[in-house]
Amino acid sequence: MCAYSLYPVIVDWIPGLPQIPYRGGVGRWEGVVMHQTASPGDTARSERMYESRTYANAFVHEFIDPNEIIQVANPMYLAYGAGPVANPRFIHLELCSNRTADEFARSFDRWCQRAAVFLSMRGLGVTPALPDGTGTLWSHYDVSRYLGGTDHSDPIDYIQSWGKSWQDVVQTVQFHYNAITGGGDMPALSVKMRTKLSLSCPLPIMRRACPLRRRSSIAWRTLCAGLPGSRSSKGAGLVIFVVAADAIAHRFYSTRGVIAKRIFCMLGASG
Ligand SMILES: [Zn+2]
Repeated sequence: MCAYSLYPVIVDWIPGLPQIPYRGGVGRWEGVVMHQTASPGDTARSERMYESRTYANAFVHEFIDPNEIIQVANPMYLAYGAGPVANPRFIHLELCSNRTADEFARSFDRWCQRAAVFLSMRGLGVTPALPDGTGTLWSHYDVSRYLGGTDHSDPIDYIQSWGKSWQDVVQTVQFHYNAITGGGDMPALSVKMRTKLSLSCPLPIMRRACPLRRRSSIAWRTLCAGLPGSRSSKGAGLVIFVVAADAIAHRFYSTRGVIAKRIFCMLGASG
């Protein structure tokens, strides 16, 4: 039985976004900036719709609400989330607004897990931002005060209104990071898929190993879309998949040679 689960991610990139590499190159983010929308009543979907019209001014990589995580921009390329100094360095994750403590708790945990996933994909660890510009986990407020180029102070006031501090964010991201990376021995991960999987994995080692190949509806190449070393997908429209699980598989499982058992558990599946 698998103990730890990754939340599903809906990948629905806004068409036409600029594709500008990070300062270190494509896919080479240095950390994550945590944002809050400050738009009462919004959802990940409504934010995506809004951003699809306004991305020339600003856009982030993902919106997180209590029920959905929507990836609206390819994380391999930079977004316009926090000004010209931070953008070439960081992933941007935006927490939507919540109406109840339960909604806040659910979206908060998803938001922190997504930060941990992106940090773990690059093996960056979880270190809070410092005035000298180092650190991997940033609030937009940290960017404003340490890097400049922007003047927002989110998400500090918002999370405080629900009884959370920035330190709580750091601790929760660290919790997820530890669960995902598991130190020397990878933990078993399980992911509740909304649909079943089919296999055309670009990683031969995984293709051989996976027992799920006969269950179709999401192609492995779609799962792997946009990740370093994988082929891109021609998937059209809304594709529901678990980018995090695949990213972890790609980074850790294929390189460590610990494959089949853990991937089965991670994907799923099968309940
Ligand atoms: Zn912000």
